[in-house]
Amino acid sequence: MDRVIVVGGGLAGIRSVEALRAKGYEGALTLVSAELHRPYDRPPLSKALLVGDIDDTTFDTDWAALRCEWLPGRRATGLRLDPGGGGIVATDGGDLPFDGLVIATGAAPITLPGTGPQRVLRTVEDARSLRAGLREGARVVIVGAGWIGAEVATAAARRGCAVTVVEAADTPLANAVGTLIGGRTARWYAEAGVELRTGVRVAAVEPGGLTLADGGRIDADEVVVGVGVRPVLGWLEGSGLRLDGGVVTDASLRASAPGVVAVGDCAAWWSRRYGRRLLVEHWDAALNGPDVAAAALLGADAVYEAVPYFWSEQFGRMVQYAGHHPAGERMIYRGDPDGPGWAACWLTGDRLEALLTVDRPRDLLQGRRIIATGTPVDADSVADPGIPLRDA
Ligand code: FAD
Repeated sequence: MDRVIVVGGGLAGIRSVEALRAKGYEGALTLVSAELHRPYDRPPLSKALLVGDIDDTTFDTDWAALRCEWLPGRRATGLRLDPGGGGIVATDGGDLPFDGLVIATGAAPITLPGTGPQRVLRTVEDARSLRAGLREGARVVIVGAGWIGAEVATAAARRGCAVTVVEAADTPLANAVGTLIGGRTARWYAEAGVELRTGVRVAAVEPGGLTLADGGRIDADEVVVGVGVRPVLGWLEGSGLRLDGGVVTDASLRASAPGVVAVGDCAAWWSRRYGRRLLVEHWDAALNGPDVAAAALLGADAVYEAVPYFWSEQFGRMVQYAGHHPAGERMIYRGDPDGPGWAACWLTGDRLEALLTVDRPRDLLQGRRIIATGTPVDADSVADPGIPLRDA
């Protein structure tokens, strides 16, 4: 292999470049990036950058050592695969032949119908521009009480805005962790002075606010839409590559054509641990998946067996999640969910499947390790926050 192209200059893309070089790949390496910035970190965009504590999240990358051609502002528009392996990435600046390809085009925010201005939060430009709109006293309406919605609400409230969060489900985080646990976070909004309106469907974003499915209206100076993301796959359509909500890969992150791997938010990978395909839009997967993808591309045996991990900083709390709770048969609380620090633990028999922690980072670390090893736990000890979380 002597010509590798990485498409997508986010975390998964730059980590793939680094991993290929770290594993001894010596051939030509090109990073095709639709954005103009050097690769940068996204989680701070809805946290420290949005409140104005920092302004730049560019990764500290040693470009000279990586010997990587960086093509900023270049968008992949199509993929032609050779039956024998390799092929051509078509871009808006010409064709790029390859014999190895890393697909790392991430995900893009879903927007709502309507003619009014709506903001999303994915890029550093989005974040800086939104920050400018979070003026003291501004009426900010956030659609979606998911992870991003909660973080934007946190920042907007801190900047003195009048914040309303509109959510179609009955509780925040309903899609992510279910209504029982999601409901536990509802009072955080009230305590921060944020109005939370659940069970409310938005029909359209109109100039000056939102119209609701029930005919109502909410006036707003700023509308921020945080209703989820979709993997960026348009440029792969018609290529013959298997797509199913994401780029379909095996447990080694190999896509359905030889010499092609996919990583990060756009990859729907086969999880041996859970016996099903997973698509997790989490920083940890974009950070660690590339090691496996690079190894697989270079012909080594490697399997991505990660326990999914995610964190969110909302309303002054650190919320962390590890595992895959739909696999759990029952949920038990560790500590008082109305208190300051607690956890929800999902178990099957004596096996810990997942946990969500609120301001209990040590529980998260220990729980994540227990989930990874699959060792049994004692449910009574798990329920007791005074006993360290450990295997039985
Ligand atoms: P991306 O970072 O989306 O990078 C993909 C890149 O590919 C982009 O630069 C895009 O422009 C480019 N691209 C797309 N199409 C093309 C094309 N056709 N040609 C060329 N380039 C293309 N995760 C957590 O675990 N915890 C958090 O607290 C957290 N907070 C977040 C806050 C925000 C505001 C956002 C947006 C995300 C957050 N995440 C968080 C998620 C995490 O940042 C993502 O999972 C991670 O960035 C995914 O990296 P990626 O490289 O797969 O995709």
